[in-house]
Amino acid sequence: MTLHANPLFAGLPTTIFELMSGLARQHGAVNLGQGFPESEGPDDVRAAAAQATLDGPNQYPPMLGTPALRQALADHYGRVQGLTLTPEQVIVTAGATEALAAAFLALISPGDEVVLFQPLYDSYEPMVRRAGGVPRFVTLQPPEWRITGEALDRVFSPKTRLVVLNTPHNPAAVVSSKAELELLADCCRRFDCIAVCDEVWEHVVFDGRVHTPLMALPGMAERTVKIGSAGKIFSLTGWKVGWTISSPEITAVLARAHQFLTFTVAPNLQAAVAYGLNRPDGALDEMRHDFARSRDRLASGLKDAGFVTLPSAGTYFLNVDLRASGVTLDDRSFCLRAVEVAGVAAIPVSAFYEEAPETGLVRLCFAKRDETLDRGVERLARARRLMSA
Ligand code: PMP
Ligand code: GLN
Repeated sequence: MTLHANPLFAGLPTTIFELMSGLARQHGAVNLGQGFPESEGPDDVRAAAAQATLDGPNQYPPMLGTPALRQALADHYGRVQGLTLTPEQVIVTAGATEALAAAFLALISPGDEVVLFQPLYDSYEPMVRRAGGVPRFVTLQPPEWRITGEALDRVFSPKTRLVVLNTPHNPAAVVSSKAELELLADCCRRFDCIAVCDEVWEHVVFDGRVHTPLMALPGMAERTVKIGSAGKIFSLTGWKVGWTISSPEITAVLARAHQFLTFTVAPNLQAAVAYGLNRPDGALDEMRHDFARSRDRLASGLKDAGFVTLPSAGTYFLNVDLRASGVTLDDRSFCLRAVEVAGVAAIPVSAFYEEAPETGLVRLCFAKRDETLDRGVERLARARRLMSA
């Protein structure tokens, strides 16, 4: 038979995260690639999920999420970000990935222009295009990766319907400043468009930084979809519990997309996430403190081994500057060779661009035990030796 598949998906490779984790398993490598913590996540939150599985209910929860979790999310964002929300503004989704897909499918009509910042998380561009959107890219430059008014002026137009902001940013590991948020909010108001804000890393910020949601800026509550993920808040990335937060009008249309993407999300996990969000917020400080320590351990290990790194203000990630570290191979070739010959997996930053340009940067995940980080550094040093030989 002739397979008439959708050309967009048929033409896509497997994601870089799956590719590198697969190669890491195959070669028994230290996996500093795909972003997930090495820990199992908090005992009490996992116990709450186990108990909820035993106690039930285990049948379909309400389509928009359990009342307990929607309330817990509204309360959480009221406490930690000063947002005034009602549970009716929350939809629980199968991870942030589904939330992004629902937002793109529900809010984009064919031909609408969508402003995207590169580097960008890998699901945005294919899903925007599948929804009929026309990407208008702004390419951010390391090491600051700053959004400027000039860049925004070049891409925003009366055809712009959506802009997608990711802060804290994966893979750049920067947090948008107040000035950047204001520039973007100004464009959204002037061009009457909606901001889809991927804030999955909102609580993983370091050195006293504070994450400000774009939604909190004047006039933005009515034109923002804020997306979050329990995977990052509780170090439980495999749970795939996420959510959207938006005005009642936007929520109504997102719900129509969500009802046919997944309809609902596992009730035991929703119960456990609600439990976790209602715990004292001190657990978040502890998490930030622990990850910042791991970041510093990896950064100093790399420095001692002669690698040059970029700063990391948030997320689980730290980028290595290959050129400045004495590696001449391109980022993708370095990662593919390093996993094979030196037993260490990393992610080439070129994977976060539409055209996959050589960036000379590789992303490392530091959400790991000390021994793993130390072994990762040794193996990266071995990779560099083998590749410059
Ligand atoms: N957006 C960004 C920026 C991410 O880094 C990730 C995963 N790390 C996601 C979305 C997907 O989140 P989830 O696993 O909740 O679908
Ligand atoms: N967001 C994770 C990362 O950046 C990966 C998630 C996935 O594998 N889809 O590494």
